[in-house]
Amino acid sequence: MTTFARVQELRQLLNRASYEYYVLDQPQLDDSIYDRLYRELQDLETEHPEWITPDSPTQRVGDQPSSAFTSVKHNIALYSLENAFNNADLDKWQERWQRVEDGLPATYICELKIDGNAMALTYENGILVRGATRGDGITGEDITSNVRTIRSIPLKLNLENPPPIVEVRGEAFLPNHMFDRINAQREAAGEEKFKNPRNAAAGTLRQLDSRKVADRQLDFFAYTVHFPNTDLTTVNSQWTSLEWLQTAGFRVNPNREQCKDLQSVQQYCEKWNTDRHDLPYMTDGVVIKVNEFSIQDKLGFTNKFPRWAIAYKYPAEEVPTLLNSITIQVGRTGAITPVAELAPVELAGTTVARATLHNADRLAELDLHIGDTVIVRKAGEIIPEVVMVLPELRPKNAVRCALPTECPECNSKLVRPEGEAVTRCVNASCPAILRGGLQHWVSRGAMDINSVGEKLIVQLLNATMVSSIADLYDLTPEKVMELDRTGQKSAEKVVKAIEASKTQPWSRVLYGLGIRLVGSSNAQILSESFPTVELLAAAEAEQISSIFGIGDEIARSVVQWFQTDSNLALIERLRSAGLQLKGEGKPLETAVTAITGKIFVVTGTLPTLKRDEAKDMIRKAGGKVTDSVSKKTDFVVVGEDAGSKLEKARSLNITTLSEAEFLELLF
Ligand code: NAD
Repeated sequence: MTTFARVQELRQLLNRASYEYYVLDQPQLDDSIYDRLYRELQDLETEHPEWITPDSPTQRVGDQPSSAFTSVKHNIALYSLENAFNNADLDKWQERWQRVEDGLPATYICELKIDGNAMALTYENGILVRGATRGDGITGEDITSNVRTIRSIPLKLNLENPPPIVEVRGEAFLPNHMFDRINAQREAAGEEKFKNPRNAAAGTLRQLDSRKVADRQLDFFAYTVHFPNTDLTTVNSQWTSLEWLQTAGFRVNPNREQCKDLQSVQQYCEKWNTDRHDLPYMTDGVVIKVNEFSIQDKLGFTNKFPRWAIAYKYPAEEVPTLLNSITIQVGRTGAITPVAELAPVELAGTTVARATLHNADRLAELDLHIGDTVIVRKAGEIIPEVVMVLPELRPKNAVRCALPTECPECNSKLVRPEGEAVTRCVNASCPAILRGGLQHWVSRGAMDINSVGEKLIVQLLNATMVSSIADLYDLTPEKVMELDRTGQKSAEKVVKAIEASKTQPWSRVLYGLGIRLVGSSNAQILSESFPTVELLAAAEAEQISSIFGIGDEIARSVVQWFQTDSNLALIERLRSAGLQLKGEGKPLETAVTAITGKIFVVTGTLPTLKRDEAKDMIRKAGGKVTDSVSKKTDFVVVGEDAGSKLEKARSLNITTLSEAEFLELLF
């Protein structure tokens, strides 16, 4: 896509998003995505000022007011705020304003940026006469009757001699508990839920019936005051304004702070990035204002923002970026994972250049094309993933992405077993699978052989010295020395480290085998219940899944692994190499109870237990659970509406148990 085409597409997309956001109160994009795309447009327009058009979203403050209320022209315009997304943006902002007004002793006021709607309130002789939305900053909607329902907005100022006209600006917002309640009600009524408290507040303020507004208990924090035609010398800074507002009877956010320099501002932002989650209302950042009015006046405004204030927005969990290509990863189990290679982007504090696309279904669902603008998300510690595509920003003739049909490592045909989401390379000697298996074996949680790193593994595989983990134990220093750039000393070190791994316990060996779904904690549990490899290899799936914490799928995977001849041969080779294939646990069978070995079916709705809970209890007590009643069944636990299974139990004369009887048998 040419740059100019991108500008046009961005404008179209952002204008539509604004309409959905401001007019319909139903945004389709996350605010952080909107902000980033907006900044991209802004940057392109800075590079090419000749492309700026009056209808560009960068040329507007807010959006047109919706038509349900009377429009009102604000006595004093409401500006938007410039955005900062990181400390570097704040540094640049300071540099910029100090270029205009250097040398003046300025301090900063930090206020939490409340995620609500800006309101303009007018008081005449101390009485609230008008409440209006921001609208486009010049014209808003008169919503006085709704504003009157907000308890924290005084209808009369708490002052003896109020200035004749007072203009107050602040944020009307919905506390979290009300936001949750409204969304629950909307969901129950089959209505679309509000995306965030800000849109919910906007939707509430635009209700035509002010009783409904009152019901929703909006709240309000005041943050700006103007006294047209009155000179109040005591109010000469942002800080003193906030104090004045508080005295006049407004709620002012208590978490404001006066900072002597930008470093303290940054500390405030950092502190509130975590602390804000404990507040009973949503915040999406911090607003930083130069405190002194004398300096504010000198700095003035651009056509959109005051130069003396900036909104620091907290790192987004979702950002847009460009998809450069996709690559394919082959895991140690042969699982194929498509990976998005992205234009690097800052996301929740780190730079992200790759994101998982999970599998073929996800790839198809996203309908990804090379060059697409994609939305990437990082939640918690999880690797980033592509969550959405913006097809509106797709370049013409873009090529659609799909999984290859052949393994990129060994060219064998890829297979997708029926009913599975994962596509696999099933060639056991695929270099990727061998490499992955060996890397897993030497990894920290398994054999912990740190002298054998990824590079050496690749060398060993290329030299065909190793093609399975057992081959590692046949290596000699002489053999290892045949590898490029490997001297005697390091070769001896490698062999010694491999030798030392023979003392690693059975649980680690089991984990190192890389059986699907057997992670290190499952390996630990299994190795305790099956203290020798023979016991585990002979176990049936039901016996394995009867262990607390081990599910059916894990059990099946273990059984399958031990049913494969090449795996049994591997175990024999590891045994002769001297690895630990037994541990110190107690075999499962020793704990005999009335339930041990008995076969149960659970059917119907039990009075207190969920069916899965009952099944888990049976397995933990050493019993087995099956789905259908047969002659082999020992007990059927029966709840309400049991149906055909109960009938079958009766016809086969099998003992049935109520929940109470079952619990008695169990304890
Ligand atoms: P803004 O939200 O970035 O910042 C300005 C606003 O901050 C003020 O108007 C005020 O309402 C609020 N604010 C809260 N606490 C404040 C305080 N203590 N002091 C001063 N102001 C405070 O900018 P904006 O122009 O109001 O709105 C644009 C925002 O709307 C964008 O950031 C974007 O995320 C969102 N938007 C989203 C979509 C979408 O599709 N998701 C579309 C259009 C706009």
